[in-house]
Amino acid sequence: MARRISALQWVRLTSQVAVAAIALTAGVRLARGWSLAGVEKYCPFGGLETIWSFVTRRSFSCAAGELNLALFLALLGLTLIARKAFCSWVCPVGSVNEWIFRLARRPGARLPLEPPPRVDRALRWLRLPVLAVILFFTWRTGELVFRGYDPYYILTSAHGHEVKLWSYAILAAVLALGVVVPMAWCRYLCPLGITLWPFSALGRLRLRRTQSRCTACAACSRACPHGIDVAGGTAVRSGECTLCLECTDACPAAGALELRLEGRKP
Ligand code: SF4
Ligand code: SF4
Repeated sequence: MARRISALQWVRLTSQVAVAAIALTAGVRLARGWSLAGVEKYCPFGGLETIWSFVTRRSFSCAAGELNLALFLALLGLTLIARKAFCSWVCPVGSVNEWIFRLARRPGARLPLEPPPRVDRALRWLRLPVLAVILFFTWRTGELVFRGYDPYYILTSAHGHEVKLWSYAILAAVLALGVVVPMAWCRYLCPLGITLWPFSALGRLRLRRTQSRCTACAACSRACPHGIDVAGGTAVRSGECTLCLECTDACPAAGALELRLEGRKP
């Protein structure tokens, strides 16, 4: 049966394509010398990378600046409401991962691997040492040392400063991993993802499952690219939820699964 795509999903896809195109254009413009503003200027993670330098020395790390810091703080605020929506509505690396995941799931193709929940939970902690190493070296050197390894930078900088041949090998490995395990980069390696996670767990926009309307088919859980057991509770409280709304699109029962803005009460 053909997949039903809701109006909101079209809005999300438009947002993903637009942001990816804008980032790519910025990368090409900088590479051709038509602009001085590269893709790093718009990366909120750059705000976290430069925060130590800003607090201790009142200066910014390398190419990061006020805009990165403002974007990072704004993103934390947004995450307290809309959870990790940035990851599935804005981030070009998340978008490319998702498109790869979709290609891998096309009819007739082999399904990507969904790791067992215990393995999945353990692997998600890998993001913590990745974050720690990046922050340690960036804060110590004052340089954005992650550039050559950063899929966002490699993808959009049009062979930017510090992108080497091995950077493309890293990018290819990350994308290939995304074919096997859905959203592998976002789940297991992204340093921004683990930074947002505790804020996202407090996020007020939540998916609510109404037991009386639910048929317990578990289509929502199977559709979730982040491996969240949507059908296993009355609300999605996981800090990993990106509000991609794949679960609501998959749900066949009207009104069983809805997005709600909730107050402080659980
Ligand atoms: S729970 Fe639903 S909205 Fe959240 S990540 Fe999974 S599919 Fe997307
Ligand atoms: S897809 Fe809808 S009906 Fe099926 S288990 Fe999930 S919420 Fe219930």
